[in-house]
Amino acid sequence: MKVEIDERRCCSAGQCAVLAPDVFDQREDTGTVVLLNPNPPAEHQNAVRDAAESCPGMVITVTEDS
Ligand code: SF4
Repeated sequence: MKVEIDERRCCSAGQCAVLAPDVFDQREDTGTVVLLNPNPPAEHQNAVRDAAESCPGMVITVTEDS
């Protein structure tokens, strides 16, 4: 799995960091998303999919391994 973010569209809602805290964090000052791991291991991938679906700004793009 490969994870990409478009930080410009982030509205700092924070679902990503709640759902997948090993992969996403938020900036202290603005609350915008920080991608901690663009290649998350299998045990975090369902949480990343949930975060991508829950993100109100459609900031998170997930590319599955082929
Ligand atoms: S859920 Fe989406 S909009 Fe909210 S902080 Fe995460 S990336 Fe940004």
